[in-house]
Amino acid sequence: MSGQLFVVATPIGNLGDLSPRARETLAAVDLIAAEDTRHSRRLLEHFGIHRPLLALHEHNERERCEGLIGRLQAGESVALISDAGTPLISDPGYRLVRAAREAGVPVVPIPGPSALIAALSVAGLPTDRFVFEGFLPAKGQARRNRLRALADEPRTLVFYEAGHRIEAMLADLAASFGGGREAVVARELTKQFEQIEGGPLDHLREWLAADERHRRGEFVVLVAGAPPREAGAGETRRVLEILLRELPVKRAAAVAAELTGQRRNELYRLALTLSGGD
Ligand code: SAM
Repeated sequence: MSGQLFVVATPIGNLGDLSPRARETLAAVDLIAAEDTRHSRRLLEHFGIHRPLLALHEHNERERCEGLIGRLQAGESVALISDAGTPLISDPGYRLVRAAREAGVPVVPIPGPSALIAALSVAGLPTDRFVFEGFLPAKGQARRNRLRALADEPRTLVFYEAGHRIEAMLADLAASFGGGREAVVARELTKQFEQIEGGPLDHLREWLAADERHRRGEFVVLVAGAPPREAGAGETRRVLEILLRELPVKRAAAVAAELTGQRRNELYRLALTLSGGD
């Protein structure tokens, strides 16, 4: 194990989810770098693991890197853990992993729980492609700007959110994507009060408002990707634009209708807009 950095996933609620390999690794390393040492000590004690702990969080990661790389290069083994789930996934560790790789230190994943993957695996939304957006900005205007940029994203969107912002977040999602867009709220995954509720965003807003308990805890929010734009819309527009260079609006619409099989009056309206006549 000497001179290796292990990136170890820990449970997101249910202690039974710590893998045997994670447990063995944590029990064997020289040092465990943890986001919050008090929190992690409780977890480690539960498993009878007593290894030295060092705090590594977003405020000290930069300074800690050099010392940790030095120890790794001197042959010590280090495990990196966060408060819950997989380190680096909306958690600290990116700088350390990057520095280790740049220094030629082997970095070994010990995979396990992550709220993102747990939620995706049960949401029933397309998973062949998805976008992980992590936490949206906390401030309303910045959050809405970010959502506006995502309104046409065709892949399933995955967000993290805390209980105290969940209602405001769902309101902004509905405003940006429309209340009919399908979504899933996954709350307290792997814990006693786990809930997975799906439906249009308007329904999820009602569900959250209906019971204060629905708004407690930790959340993953998944939103179906934007439906594909009407097939061929871009091509129809292109045909009309070309015809309008040569023909009056009415005639261009008639020829375009013949070429595309679309309704003449709809194309006439589009042709008027394109020619600036409406
Ligand atoms: N590294 C973690 C992982 O792999 O999932 C995520 C850490 S991030 C700081 C914490 C956020 O993850 C929470 O605010 C929540 O959005 C989500 N999360 C963590 N545990 C969860 C759980 N049991 N159920 C639902 N969401 C959870």
